[in-house]
Amino acid sequence: MLFQDLNLIEPILKALKTEGYTQPTPIQEQSIPIILDRKDLLGCAQTGTGKTAAFSIPLLQILYNERAQHKEQKTIKALILTPTRELAIQIDESLAAYGRHTGLKHLVIFGGVSQNPQTEALRRGVDILVATPGRLLDLMNQKYVHLDQVKFLVLDEADRMLDMGFVHDVKKVIAKVPQKRQTLFFSATMPKEIQQLADTILNKPEKVEV
Ligand code: AMP
Repeated sequence: MLFQDLNLIEPILKALKTEGYTQPTPIQEQSIPIILDRKDLLGCAQTGTGKTAAFSIPLLQILYNERAQHKEQKTIKALILTPTRELAIQIDESLAAYGRHTGLKHLVIFGGVSQNPQTEALRRGVDILVATPGRLLDLMNQKYVHLDQVKFLVLDEADRMLDMGFVHDVKKVIAKVPQKRQTLFFSATMPKEIQQLADTILNKPEKVEV
């Protein structure tokens, strides 16, 4: 299978060509049609499988296609939660690469650094926010971040978020995201605790395992 066979739009195909990607990885081949079909997804996949592109590509495509319908151009429409600064930066770089021809604005926020550049960027307007849970909650509490227009929620490496003790922060964040949304949940392992968390935040998910 080729990326051309996945019903992707030209701005994305062009970016993938620049990246030198020709064939989707198994997680991409399985996940992209499900996400473009607007279904929730429970993905069991490790880092290195191409899971970042598996959710970033369809997310960018849907937001690009719906752009005209968005009255509020400068509100957060997609939130990607991930446990570490390194992963957050990687995801943001992927969005920059695959979304280079979409004109969508993305921002990454994480703790351990000054919040000022982050709040400045938030003020200018963001379509897609990539965040670690602690800093996100902090900026939400200070009213720099509003999640009431979020239509897409991605939980990346959910098992690691739990292992790192972020479960309460994650639940507090999700409580502020509208119920009417599409949710994508990725975890390398699926212990009972993760399965339970997935059950509470996903709506009739399709399952993908690689
Ligand atoms: P990830 O599992 O999302 O961390 O991705 C692992 C690596 O694979 C990253 O460096 C990506 O740039 C690369 N990658 C993802 N999808 C593809 C693809 N379809 N073809 C070639 N490389 C890819």
